[in-house]
Amino acid sequence: MRIAMIGTGYVGLVSGACFADFGHRVCCVDKDASKIERLNEGVMPIWEPGLEGLVKDNVARGRLTFTTDMVEAVRDAEAVFIAVGTPARRGDGHADLTFVFEAVRELAKVINPATVVVTKSTVPVGTGDKIEQILREEGVTDVSVASNPEFLREGAAIADFKHPDRIVVGAEDDRAQHVLREIYRPLFLNRAPILITARRTAELTKYAANAFLAVKISFINEIADLCEAVDADVQDVARGIGLDNRIGPKFLHAGPGYGGSCFPKDTLALLQTAEAAGVDQRIVRTTVEVNDNRKEHMVDRVVRALGGDAAGRRVGVLGLAFKPNTDDMRDAPSIPIIKGLVERGATVSAFDPVARHQAEQILTGIEFVDDAYQAADGADVLVIVTEWDEFRALDLNRIAGSLRGKVLVDLRNVYDRSDAEEAGLKYHGVGRGRAEPVD
Ligand code: NAD
Repeated sequence: MRIAMIGTGYVGLVSGACFADFGHRVCCVDKDASKIERLNEGVMPIWEPGLEGLVKDNVARGRLTFTTDMVEAVRDAEAVFIAVGTPARRGDGHADLTFVFEAVRELAKVINPATVVVTKSTVPVGTGDKIEQILREEGVTDVSVASNPEFLREGAAIADFKHPDRIVVGAEDDRAQHVLREIYRPLFLNRAPILITARRTAELTKYAANAFLAVKISFINEIADLCEAVDADVQDVARGIGLDNRIGPKFLHAGPGYGGSCFPKDTLALLQTAEAAGVDQRIVRTTVEVNDNRKEHMVDRVVRALGGDAAGRRVGVLGLAFKPNTDDMRDAPSIPIIKGLVERGATVSAFDPVARHQAEQILTGIEFVDDAYQAADGADVLVIVTEWDEFRALDLNRIAGSLRGKVLVDLRNVYDRSDAEEAGLKYHGVGRGRAEPVD
């Protein structure tokens, strides 16, 4: 198949490269000329494991190209995927569809009859209808508009794309269904389940999936708070419930709350859709509230570990990206946590294995260092914010030797209390027994 991919961000670039790897011919278009220039030089604009090799390989085979020219991308395409950003609109949290509609207006000028336009971006229910309307207004009538929400996770994006739990396609006519089945055929051969639904249903499925995962995270975080009050261990509770097949073990890790480029904005957008439809979504509303408060609680937790006052104290922070194996800093929990600590008078030295450059654009007034031991050097407390693998096997004796305060706040429950204590550290995890009283 000949495919155009509009937007070469975390989703568009991975999807485009994977489609090319399936054997399709893919032209990726982005309005960010510097991104396209870098891609054409073989430089990846994002950090995603395995992406560089996949892109270079498919470029070399002539199946993957990059351009800023919409005409070039869309001219011969049988399917045009829209993978542009849909951030939260400032003020109300509604999904901002400016980029989507801009892209549709641009492609309307050059699209061939009988093309299938597919939204891969996460878009509110009814966006497909609006896209159809815009295309009609621009004089394009003979196209199909389908929804194909993406469920990949940053950090494992290629594996997720190639071995998805399911593919959801919202397509209401034969042409769209046929084209999408052809595109995903290599995955059917691998027995990936494909779910063909009405377009609106597919659009909502994506939001329901992210909202449910967010609920799981906020749920276990509240259980963690309870564990601290009643002297129970949240990790054992999570395992005890997660082994129940009806519940499942994933997304039951207590921590600083969810962040990233999807859950925060998608939960807000779902609430906007619900409000417009006059249907309250109390569970999701509460989930958002629990998660918002969580970051402040994490700041309190660090300040408590410092003895109740952060003024003039030095805090080492490990991990800035919103999760391991990505450089994505969008809505990362590290941002409000570090800002909160700085507001309370602490100085912060932070380390992240790959997100430093992105973090430097967002976090000012802190020191960025080159490894975990430097972050610990002379600090009163060391805080693990993102659970990169390289933070799982630190030499705790060396950390204890570098720290001034000998306190480890492990917001990801990476370490066992006994190991930390053996190294001479005072350990504070999340939901692991009664919270330590203030010194
Ligand atoms: P991103 O911000 O990384 O990339 C979007 C790209 O689109 C940018 O490079 C931008 O320059 C480009 N763009 C915007 N308008 C354009 C236009 N008119 N023409 C050409 N290019 C244009 O965003 P992302 O993280 O890849 O997310 C894209 C969509 O996928 C969002 O709706 C998001 O919710 C959804 N999604 C993201 C993830 C994820 O893990 N990042 C996972 C599933 C779904």
